[in-house]
Amino acid sequence: MPLVTLANALAIAKEKNIAIGAFNIGNYESLKAVIDCASEEKLPVIVQIFNRLFNDDKARDMAALVKVMAENVNIPVVLHLDHGKTIAQVERAVQYGFTSVMIDASDLPMEENIQMTKAVVAIAHSHHISVEAELGRLLPKGAIDCENFLTVPEEALEFVKQTGIDALAVAIGTSHGFYKETPFIDLERLKKINAMVGIPIVLHGGSGTPDDIIQKSVLCGIRKINLATELHQAYIDGIAIQAEIHKEKFSPIDVYNVPVYEKMKKLVRQKMRLFALMSPE
Ligand SMILES: [Zn+2]
Repeated sequence: MPLVTLANALAIAKEKNIAIGAFNIGNYESLKAVIDCASEEKLPVIVQIFNRLFNDDKARDMAALVKVMAENVNIPVVLHLDHGKTIAQVERAVQYGFTSVMIDASDLPMEENIQMTKAVVAIAHSHHISVEAELGRLLPKGAIDCENFLTVPEEALEFVKQTGIDALAVAIGTSHGFYKETPFIDLERLKKINAMVGIPIVLHGGSGTPDDIIQKSVLCGIRKINLATELHQAYIDGIAIQAEIHKEKFSPIDVYNVPVYEKMKKLVRQKMRLFALMSPE
């Protein structure tokens, strides 16, 4: 089916009380693993393209591929710009047919974050696509004093009211990348934010967050969970295994990549079921 907006997909998540996986893809195999898995599991999925891929033609080319692949499956697929940093990136995402953008101005003071986000909402909504924005900051690795980084519920309400965004990314204790120690996730804060803002809440830093905490966060209102690092690591590990196997024996790329694709797909399936509160098997 044609691509759907993030608002459409998250409405399904809300109705079912689940979270939808948002996977950062970087090449054909990772994209194929994500779309095929969602199709087999009959779950909506968010394909994310990180802002770095807008530095050259990758985002444009991958977007064309996502559109074709979405049209050939029977589940809702969202094409989303992850951590958009500039208006120019947002405009290019619109031009490439993205159905959702994130604008991340969370490192600016709140007032400037609001102004930047409002500008993006005006552009995106005029093209009927969704906007995710972030308030609060994800923890830098090894942060000790985390209180200053976390999202304040009252500020979140104000931010949502003033900007008109479709989804809010919050800081409740997760970090990007892998964790060295088990993170403390502030579920009480999440519950409060969820009760106040009335729009879907997004969890960044899904990689390495323990399964029980992920499920509790879904029960507290998380509707989109971002996963990048673990998926990319599965790819890198898969390639390393193949490199060892094919040391002295040539294999064409499409054949070489099949076990790598399967490895990523296995991880995606496990995460999709976890986020949808389904049994792992
Ligand atoms: Zn993120």
